[in-house]
Amino acid sequence: MTKDEDKAFEAEIKAKYSGGTCPCQTGFIEKKKSSLREVVCKKCGAVFKTNRDTDYCWRCEKK
Ligand SMILES: [Zn+2]
Repeated sequence: MTKDEDKAFEAEIKAKYSGGTCPCQTGFIEKKKSSLREVVCKKCGAVFKTNRDTDYCWRCEKK
């Protein structure tokens, strides 16, 4: 992570705090760490977030 990204990250955290929302509760920090992306399940059409390379939600993947 570069210093500029660090600053942007900090600023975003501060913005979240000043908005009265803890970043822990928004999942923001987790998102930053694991680079979650939104995926639409090809089987059931559910929108879910994953950091894995998959086209299926956890429910359909289990089957
Ligand atoms: Zn599914």
